[in-house]
Amino acid sequence: GGIADWIARRALRRPEAEALVDVATGARHTYAALDRRIGARAAALAALGVGAGARVALLGENSAAYLEWLFGAARLGAITVPVNHRLAPGEVAHVLADSGATVLVRSAAFATLAEDALAAGGDAVGSVSSVVELAEEPGDQALEARPVAGDDPCVIMYTSGTTGVPKGAVLTHDNMLWNAINMVTAGPGIGGTDVTIAAAPLFHIGALGLSALPPLYAGGTVVVVPSFAPAAFVELMAREGVTTQFLVPAMWAALTRLAAVPPMRDLRWAISGGAPCPVTVIEHFTRLGWTFTEGFGMTELSPAALFLDARDVLTHAGSVGRPFMHVDAQLVDGSGEEVGVGEVGELALRGPTVFAGYWNRPEATAEVVRDGWFHSGDLGIRDADGFVTLVDRKKDMIISGGENVYPVEVEQVLHRHPGVADVAVIGVGDPTWGETVVAVVVPEGSVDPDEVIGFARERIAHFKAPRRVEIVDELPRNATGKLLKRVLRERYAGRAE
Ligand code: ATP
Ligand code: MG
Repeated sequence: GGIADWIARRALRRPEAEALVDVATGARHTYAALDRRIGARAAALAALGVGAGARVALLGENSAAYLEWLFGAARLGAITVPVNHRLAPGEVAHVLADSGATVLVRSAAFATLAEDALAAGGDAVGSVSSVVELAEEPGDQALEARPVAGDDPCVIMYTSGTTGVPKGAVLTHDNMLWNAINMVTAGPGIGGTDVTIAAAPLFHIGALGLSALPPLYAGGTVVVVPSFAPAAFVELMAREGVTTQFLVPAMWAALTRLAAVPPMRDLRWAISGGAPCPVTVIEHFTRLGWTFTEGFGMTELSPAALFLDARDVLTHAGSVGRPFMHVDAQLVDGSGEEVGVGEVGELALRGPTVFAGYWNRPEATAEVVRDGWFHSGDLGIRDADGFVTLVDRKKDMIISGGENVYPVEVEQVLHRHPGVADVAVIGVGDPTWGETVVAVVVPEGSVDPDEVIGFARERIAHFKAPRRVEIVDELPRNATGKLLKRVLRERYAGRAE
């Protein structure tokens, strides 16, 4: 069966348990109500001709209705395509055309973006035959669930586009199921009494695959917020009695800058993932007495792959831990051989959460899935106990004077400088060194570039320390706060000191 069955089963067992809370509308839906609403969304889609395998594009801020449509499509065996609403109209058109969506469900806030995308796309988006209002109240007619197989596609989730054009990763119902099982069986786990907030955008796998689907599988409560505002967020956490919470590092970092955080009496664990988390952020929440851990995930892995167990946080801060229950992980060299303890290798993964491939891109899929292993493009090292520490993405590694420099290591050091509010380290082409290490710094107050270089040289090898520091007001980041280093590399390429 598919993911919509999860809700149907929960509705049978604990119909009155709270499933979804929509902070924008104030609506609170029990599992019984959610199941009915999903049936009605399925009926609405079926009336538009949506059947098994058809693609339904979803364009909207986070809301309960957003998830209802997604489950409604799943109940029909249709495939949901969550669309990043921060894209330009031409880029939205690309996603619609690439996925061949026939129905576009969009919220009022993005009506203009949807119109502009359809206009910009021309014939390429000709597949879209209906545009539906996302927030419209569901009707009374519910559609019976249609048979859905575990390996039927559930969503086409576009990657974050950190390293290039976003790729549509096809995730099946079984992928989502095993991801949920991984979360339920992980150290801190999740169960029917857990409460969490879906705050990162649902069009990225982090929020959908960590904050929304596993808690609903487990019978817990998901509180959905349309946008993220630090002070309001921590108040909401305390008010709703949040027990488990995932956010991306940029969001956690924003919370560290709040003057005060209310006591979180019910919080069992908090987790960061999706990008490197500054160790200073982990230390901040640990000082508050929170169990704050880190995990590693990817769109192509549905996404949960490795996590640091709560009891290992103090001894292994900075590591992303060990694989979830149903994930095999290896660090391999260029020929696919496992590297030794303490050696840098590419993280390769295997198991039931590995995606079915990139939509319409068999060559791109064949490049990363080799001998049954998915190659992540991320480099890491493992200690004798199997704890993995990521060093960086392969594409971001700098080779300076023949030495490998992992920018994340340099960033972790610079985050400790009191005059550094935010920092990105990149490699820039250099006639003498091949590449030279450049730190792009958002200052906290005022900061002296030479002093920053000196600070780094006192703590790490000279070849790793930046040779140049650029001061900027803001770093380019995507919707989940990931650093867009390709933008910085272009900006500083060939620019003399
Ligand atoms: P694209 O594939 O389009 O370039 P992306 O790789 O950023 O974008 P996602 O699938 O959202 O798209 O992100 C997965 C990547 O995020 C991983 O490959 C890894 O580089 C990074 N990542 C995730 N979790 C962590 C973590 N805990 N520490 C460091 N990096 C992480
Ligand atoms: Mg990627």
